[in-house]
Amino acid sequence: MASNSLSAFLQDNLTELKQQGLYNTIQPLESPNGPIITIQGREFVNLSSNNYLGLANDERLKEAAIQATTDFGTGSGAVRSINGTLALHIELEEKLAQFKGTEAVLTYQSGFNCNMAAISAVMGAGDAILSDELNHASIIDGCRLTKAKVIRFNHSDMEDLRSKAKEARESGLYSKIMVITDGVFSMDGDIAKLPEIVEIAESYDLITYVDDAHGSGVLGGGAGTVKHFGLSDRVDFQIGTLSKAVGVVGGYVAGSRDLVDWLKVRSRPFLFSTALPPGSIAACITAIDILQNSKELQMKLWENTRYLQEGLKNLGYSVGRTETPITPCIIGDEATTQKFSTRLYEEGVYAKAIVFPTVPKGTGRVRNMPTAIHTQEMLDRALSAYETIGRELGLI
Ligand code: PMP
Repeated sequence: MASNSLSAFLQDNLTELKQQGLYNTIQPLESPNGPIITIQGREFVNLSSNNYLGLANDERLKEAAIQATTDFGTGSGAVRSINGTLALHIELEEKLAQFKGTEAVLTYQSGFNCNMAAISAVMGAGDAILSDELNHASIIDGCRLTKAKVIRFNHSDMEDLRSKAKEARESGLYSKIMVITDGVFSMDGDIAKLPEIVEIAESYDLITYVDDAHGSGVLGGGAGTVKHFGLSDRVDFQIGTLSKAVGVVGGYVAGSRDLVDWLKVRSRPFLFSTALPPGSIAACITAIDILQNSKELQMKLWENTRYLQEGLKNLGYSVGRTETPITPCIIGDEATTQKFSTRLYEEGVYAKAIVFPTVPKGTGRVRNMPTAIHTQEMLDRALSAYETIGRELGLI
């Protein structure tokens, strides 16, 4: 039986969340997470997945996963540092390093884990971390795991970063100072100003850390935001995820050989959590081969992105400051945004409302994620729903 204090805590808080309309009810899919999904027997145009290139249900990846599962089993059996490292892990890491243009790569069980692992393995008491205010939750939690001083800078505000970097360095209080940014910001789709960040970092001897979860497979010929700006040899940590464009699961750090050697002995999820399973790794290897050898899916992703964003703008909507496939459609106040998303659902379009406190008050939006495998007809269906609902609610 649950303790009285736990029951009271859960009931009070759950009731409050539900009353505020902030309790997220999860709707399980009865289909792959592709461009069309099935929920409770109904089909929807899906604009909510991070399956950017459609690889999550690709026959080539599935075959690789099946073959590796047949050959090596379903689990890797141990943590990496005991005997959970299969030759397949090394093959994937070498392939990723070559793809990213870094000396070495280390994989983790998820992108989230990777941020928890990598930041705390390097930063500690007597250090400082300069973190963009819109960085992902896993970066925030990764920073919290350290005893370093965390200094937030205004989103992509290079003057603010420069003055905080100068102040931190000149204070003489910190030995290592790191600057951390998302490569692509997940709510607005804007790209970090990496050339300026790197230049500031070089002026004040900052360690540079870029979480490129949404840039990998999408920018820089698929190699990510750092490559997009031609900065591969000037960024210390490049974090990637294997769960979005790559279509499987896992995360990785790309950097120098010394960095990877250090993470192998000091990052806790590597040391204390079981390694990625063989099927997933084999599927990732196939995905990286596809990313390296063909640009067709990336081109299709960008074509669909332009089509959807132009379509929304032509209807009279704002897509905010996006520069990538992440397509916010700005609606405004929280209640109207929720209503909009519910109406989209009724019209057969699955796109989630994102409201305060995830984004500032009054900037509620519906976030749309086009992928390489949407057809124009699917995107037209979504745009037609946007038109119907926008007129109904007097927004366009
Ligand atoms: N970083 C960013 C910027 C992300 O958007 C996400 C996923 N939402 C992650 C890290 C975590 O990646 P994963 O889903 O592989 O754990």
